[in-house]
Amino acid sequence: MAGHMTFDALKDAVSAGEIDTVLACLVDMQGRLMGKRFHAVNFVETSFEETHCCNYLLATDLEMATPPGYKSSSWEAGYGDYIMAPDLTTLRPVPWLEGTAMVLCDVLDHHTHAPVPHSPRAMLKAQIARLEALGFDAMMATELEFFLFEKSFDDIRKEGFRDLAPISGYNEDYHILQTTKEESVMRPIRNHLFNAGIPVENTKGEAETGQEELNIRYAAALDCADHHTIAKNAVKEIAWQQGHAASFLPKWHHDKIGSSSHVHQSLWCDGEPAFYDPNASLGMSDVMRYYMAGLIAYAPDYTVFLAPYINSYKRFAKGTFAPTKTVWSVDNRTAGFRLCAEGTKGVRVECRIGGSDLNPYLALAAMLAAGIKGIEDKMPLAPATSGDAYDDGGAVEIPRSLRAATQTLRNSAFLRDAFGDDVVDHYVRAAEWEQEEFDRVVTDWEVARGFERA
Ligand code: ADP
Repeated sequence: MAGHMTFDALKDAVSAGEIDTVLACLVDMQGRLMGKRFHAVNFVETSFEETHCCNYLLATDLEMATPPGYKSSSWEAGYGDYIMAPDLTTLRPVPWLEGTAMVLCDVLDHHTHAPVPHSPRAMLKAQIARLEALGFDAMMATELEFFLFEKSFDDIRKEGFRDLAPISGYNEDYHILQTTKEESVMRPIRNHLFNAGIPVENTKGEAETGQEELNIRYAAALDCADHHTIAKNAVKEIAWQQGHAASFLPKWHHDKIGSSSHVHQSLWCDGEPAFYDPNASLGMSDVMRYYMAGLIAYAPDYTVFLAPYINSYKRFAKGTFAPTKTVWSVDNRTAGFRLCAEGTKGVRVECRIGGSDLNPYLALAAMLAAGIKGIEDKMPLAPATSGDAYDDGGAVEIPRSLRAATQTLRNSAFLRDAFGDDVVDHYVRAAEWEQEEFDRVVTDWEVARGFERA
């Protein structure tokens, strides 16, 4: 499709002087692009084979701290190198940056050249391989919701993140008039991403002031995660170019709706939809029922991969379209899992639990692992719920805090089997560190509440 670039095409573009910079990027635990900007001549001559980075990049936090407690990287072990191995199938132009192309890299051990097991891309590849061994391919789509603000990131930071003003003055859900006013940001997002080989479907206004949604056509699971990660970075860069800030913080204000990243999922076998059985109720095949049973049963185990920060849990609230229960329903947006396109070849399940801050590689890896477990164990699917799932007292709750979700991850025998103990322990440590940092800090809220009156 438009936008993908072969290595030969890159070499031609470099010789012609059209490309002078190549971004070589890995994806970190937070789902961010991290890496180096290569002079394009150096990249096509030597660095296309491999480059190196400090191994703290997969053991740090949003602030680039060096938290203690990771087995893989530490001060004691000297914070050595990883290999960044460019995956040349991901090579693409970056039309929103002049003369620039980009490639995603796999992260390999410096000595053995084996994939680093807790690297997000490696984790997703491992689950895709397990699924392929069962005869299936996963097709996924992640929706990206975010807020646009009037001011730029830098101005907002200098003002202490206070008095934040979204770009619009009213709920702009599906609004054409208001979103026309935002086209200086949203049109380049759609067009530049499309021209970078990301199959953009549409953008729309979402259900809050200044809230946007970007939809990308479903794709094989690894491509879906790559698309999401590149698109999220592009949204921030293009908003910055236009003098605005784009935020994927799931809940930037307690009185505002939060931002999600719903994940649509279906399995395929030899190009045919394995979730579809025209003779079965709602068109759901046995494979789909098993997969969904696994997804639902293990949702508490993997919630931390859908909601990785303290703020993520502020989004789960009754009556906000963000779910609180691990039940499924037919086209009902109050449940954690929604059946879409029932009775058709497009039948699929949408997980509504994830926030806009999820790392798509980790989220997809964990959900595929849960679905695989459901298929392997032929897990029975409970009947669909109907009505308002928020009030379904019998349903299992999604962990309601990072502390609770960390505990379910720590105790998850299923994820320890699927990912390995070292990988689970690595992400338990990441979640613990978030909690420790939050517990240490005195917040504005408690000062205002107690300063005089406590
Ligand atoms: P909605 O009503 O939720 O907006 P859409 O028709 O816009 O539904 O689809 C939402 C997402 O689901 C899109 O990104 C689309 O590409 C994706 N999608 C469609 N069919 C499938 C499928 N079979 N498997 C996975 N994702 C799919």
